[in-house]
Amino acid sequence: MDKIDLTVNGKMISAQAGMTVLEAALAAGIYIPTLCYYPDLKPYGGCRVCIVEIEGLRGLPTSCTTPVAQGMQVHTESEAIKQVRKTVVELLIADHPADCLTCAADQHCELQKVAAYLGMREIRLPKKAPAFEVDSSNPFFDLDRNKCILCSRCTRACNEITCVGAIEMANRGYATKVATFQDGLLFDSICRSCGECVARCPVGALAPKKSIAATSEIQTTCPYCGVGCSMFLGVRDDRVVSVRGNPEGAANRGRLCVKGRYGIDEFVHSRERLTSPLVRKNGQLEKASWDEALELIAQKLSAYPAAELAVISSSRTSNEDNYVAQKFARAALGTNNVDNCARV
Ligand code: SF4
Ligand code: SF4
Ligand code: SF4
Repeated sequence: MDKIDLTVNGKMISAQAGMTVLEAALAAGIYIPTLCYYPDLKPYGGCRVCIVEIEGLRGLPTSCTTPVAQGMQVHTESEAIKQVRKTVVELLIADHPADCLTCAADQHCELQKVAAYLGMREIRLPKKAPAFEVDSSNPFFDLDRNKCILCSRCTRACNEITCVGAIEMANRGYATKVATFQDGLLFDSICRSCGECVARCPVGALAPKKSIAATSEIQTTCPYCGVGCSMFLGVRDDRVVSVRGNPEGAANRGRLCVKGRYGIDEFVHSRERLTSPLVRKNGQLEKASWDEALELIAQKLSAYPAAELAVISSSRTSNEDNYVAQKFARAALGTNNVDNCARV
């Protein structure tokens, strides 16, 4: 790929052709505030916070939609830029509730971060009263449009990442909002509850119903299917309290489906899980040791010729588990009668 040289605030940096000014600056460690940009979504230029000055160009273009060019001279912190950014963020804050302490996004809210970066210490504009009912119909997350800053990350994620298209921006002006088809509840829409929109919301407008901060994270692989999504489990007091996709995951690049994102914690800690083998005795299933159960299985299987044995595995487990199952069938039992329930 061609290398492009440009300067940002007088500092010479290199970028790949096709990068935007924002991407090039961030890659070089130069912060430009933004609210609608997200690395795996197409450039949108909606929030106008990432504006910059480019010598020879009129106005204040958005850096997230402007491609780099050889010799470009970019300035990210002029007085005109700061003034426009402050006005944009003041307008957003005027429309935003001030319940930060009890908001699920507190401490990782991007509006807080940008306001702090701009040094905003007072609210000049009058606050608008909440106008929307919270949509809490989805079993896993809530949509509070009063907190929405209309960045459209959620609608773009639903279109570009999951290709579902359950939500879109509707109306104009003050009436603009995230809406489902025919403006119904999320639960009644075609939403698949994957939470990709929630994961990208910069504020607390889309927030998981369960929100407990983890004290540590453990990297693992989702056990629910053969895609093998890589994920981080957030742990607190020996319990799984959160799940997030691993952006470095080769199979999923940070994305998860509803099972991986919302189906792990209750399942892991469910009292209904089998935690030891069960052996049927006198018609009743009774707890047994692994040695006892494996001995019994080996005894019963060895009573049949290999051609009469088959192993049926599951599409609801990992590729690795299925690999071991077929290996066991072929190498231990000596049969090629192997199948999987992947045709559900
Ligand atoms: S949960 Fe998934 S399907 Fe539902 S609105 Fe969000 S991105 Fe779309
Ligand atoms: S709900 Fe969140 S992600 Fe969607 S437009 Fe509003 S602030 Fe942006
Ligand atoms: S169940 Fe979903 S999250 Fe888990 S591996 Fe399969 S696609 Fe990924």
